[in-house]
Amino acid sequence: MLEEKNPSKTALSALGEFALIAHLTQNFKVENKSSLVGIGDDAAVVEHAKERTLISTDLLVEGIHFDLSYMPLKHLGYKAVMVNLSDLYAMNAHPQQITVSIAVSNRFTLEALEDLYEGIALACKNYKVDLVGGDTTSSTTGLILSITALGSAPKKKIVCRSGAKENDLLVVSGDLGGAYAGLQILEREKAVFKVNPNEQPDLSPYSYSIGRQLKPEARKDVVELLNTLNIIPTAMIDISDGLSSEILHLSKASGVGFQVFEEKIPIDPEVSLICEEFKFNPLTAALNGGEDYELLFTVDQKHYDAIKSHPYLTVIGHACENSRGCNLVTGLGQQIELTAQGWQSFSEE
Ligand code: ADP
Ligand code: MG
Repeated sequence: MLEEKNPSKTALSALGEFALIAHLTQNFKVENKSSLVGIGDDAAVVEHAKERTLISTDLLVEGIHFDLSYMPLKHLGYKAVMVNLSDLYAMNAHPQQITVSIAVSNRFTLEALEDLYEGIALACKNYKVDLVGGDTTSSTTGLILSITALGSAPKKKIVCRSGAKENDLLVVSGDLGGAYAGLQILEREKAVFKVNPNEQPDLSPYSYSIGRQLKPEARKDVVELLNTLNIIPTAMIDISDGLSSEILHLSKASGVGFQVFEEKIPIDPEVSLICEEFKFNPLTAALNGGEDYELLFTVDQKHYDAIKSHPYLTVIGHACENSRGCNLVTGLGQQIELTAQGWQSFSEE
């Protein structure tokens, strides 16, 4: 991937900036009606007609946000787009355009960037968004990747973090802790590989969790489902930093507390097995793990029947009076205060 001395790979210096941009973006066609001018001019032009425009940006730095020794560049490209689309879905909006800016060192070859753009292209295709611009520059060592996503939503459908009301149900999509469990496996295998590069580990028992780490999907399907059910959440956020931290964000923005039931938190059996192997509580992975990119939202109680019957939605608690704070209710009925690092008693164990 990064063999700069490999003669079969093309050095970036062989192309120059303009040829590089042209090469990487040549197969991207603008598909959405709202993308009026795409790559190739000084600025892109978009039209979100009668809807509001929503914008979200993320910056990913090698060594801080990703490790290329176990994250293939194609996956990195895909995941970087997902992270941004997830933020727009968390506003109940419909992503339509992205821009991609990269800073790369000469450690990277043209083929490596082709892999990155292959992942970006796949994400664009799967989620029907257009790549409409970006910027390309050099860096001294690592890779820096910044993506901005643009989307739209009718004014009435935009969901902020701030609208949760007392007694609203707290709902999460999918299951939690998988991305964190997958990361533990990848870190372990990286360490094993350093000692014994010839060993081929069997990672198949961990495939769900590794997939959650390397190839997350933004929950477009959940936003579409809510739309079909005619449900507009009162507040919503995507789970990038772990359930605890996101609940606290909703609490702060909405001025309500939350009661969350330990037994309701959805955790995949494979994740539980990995946690057993690593001797940590699966609940910790769900509460603090992060990078699951599921949606966490509140809805009025009248929607209980519609939500509870849906396989990938779980009611995990409800909003309460602000003064009660945010608490995890254990199986034994104990209340444990949620903190951004998890629940307080955990550090005392
Ligand atoms: P300028 O000098 O006006 O910033 P550039 O030469 O940087 O223009 O970019 C030319 C076109 O290519 C612009 O439309 C820009 O948005 C697009 N572009 C540049 N870099 C990238 C990239 N890494 N990915 C996608 N589009 C890019
Ligand atoms: Mg530029």
